[in-house]
Amino acid sequence: MINGSKVLDHPIRWAMVGGGKGSQIGYIHRSAALRDNNFQLVAGAFDINPERGMAFAAELGIDPDRCYPDYKTMFEKEAQREDGIEAVSIATPNSVHYEVCKAALEAGIHVVCEKPLCFSTEEGEELVALAKKKNLVVGVTYGYSGHQMIQQARQMIKNGDLGDIRVINMSFAFGGYNYKIEETNAAAKWRFDPKKAGPSFAMADVGTHCLYIIEAMIPDMKIDKVLCSKDAFVEGRELEDNAFTLMRLNGSEHVQEGAKVYCWSSSINCGARHGHVIRVVGSKASIEWDDERPNQMTYEIEGEPVRRLERGAGYLYEEARVEDRIGGGHAEGLFEAWANLYRRFALAIEGMSKGEEEYGDFWYPDVEAGLAGVKWIEKCVESANNGEVWVKY
Ligand code: NAD
Repeated sequence: MINGSKVLDHPIRWAMVGGGKGSQIGYIHRSAALRDNNFQLVAGAFDINPERGMAFAAELGIDPDRCYPDYKTMFEKEAQREDGIEAVSIATPNSVHYEVCKAALEAGIHVVCEKPLCFSTEEGEELVALAKKKNLVVGVTYGYSGHQMIQQARQMIKNGDLGDIRVINMSFAFGGYNYKIEETNAAAKWRFDPKKAGPSFAMADVGTHCLYIIEAMIPDMKIDKVLCSKDAFVEGRELEDNAFTLMRLNGSEHVQEGAKVYCWSSSINCGARHGHVIRVVGSKASIEWDDERPNQMTYEIEGEPVRRLERGAGYLYEEARVEDRIGGGHAEGLFEAWANLYRRFALAIEGMSKGEEEYGDFWYPDVEAGLAGVKWIEKCVESANNGEVWVKY
């Protein structure tokens, strides 16, 4: 159980790039990082507009000397301080992730980066190699994977409760982008600009969350090939607002050879909120998890009544209970899931700094997971652009 007890020798001196005033995701980064006192917000370059960013940093209580106009100045000035930053989170539009991540690693700073990590596998591989060379953590905020029921699913699959996995049916298909929202909403506008968003909108924005969740549930999962069909249904969009992806998996310990995964990534699913549901079908049983009801997961054994597993319950695997913060019955949510991830990032940073490499089943979305998401987007786009054909992974 997490109850605020001290975990690290000292809180990690932490900064943010992006996530400025009015941004969609900045607040949850701060809430999650600061929740357990493992990080201390000491500096920031929060905004594309330097004045606005510095004013916001001051509003957050940051020392005026450490409210920076841009990330380059921040890394340079912080390197000159004895108490300079040790970690930085990047919560900017996608096009900025790679350059800031690379600059941070070169400056010897651990990174938490928004997804997608970068635009191409070449860039991703470079970041993987750099993080390794510098012995630094790169965490990626696939925030939903911090929910406790994802841990439960991982253990159930590992222990063979589902038998061999044959089918995964998943979606992150939200509504609200069924008209030109980008004409009035700045955060939607950059998402359809390939220079700022990269080669994909719907798959990069939400499909990668599904992908990482199943990677977390099935750590040895290997994609053999992908087939993708994507569309921009709303006229004038340069990037897809809807995509269907079919994947064939190689066999592994708990995956039947040729298992199929279906992923619907969408922003035009009228009437839906998130539409983010993961159903894993094995040879003995199925599980289903919905991000809008994250405290529950159904467990359906063939021939038996449906069971609804509840977060925090004693019958869950131990791994699914260690991050319980308030006891079963109380609803935990996305803020707790993110806090769990930030806690793991902090533990990984401390472990890495002390040279501890063995974490047991301790896991977090790392730089390899970031690269995996980028590769998936690349392969899906290749498949769709080549006439919706199977593409070898
Ligand atoms: P947003 O447009 O709402 O905010 C972006 C922020 O970055 C703004 O404050 C902007 O001023 C700042 N910024 C832009 N360029 C900058 C630069 N060069 N230096 C410093 N600051 C800069 O965007 P958002 O919706 O918050 O998305 C930001 C990132 O978070 C995206 O990569 C997006 O994919 C990701 N995101 C992730 C999740 C998740 O669940 N993990 C959810 C939403 C968004």
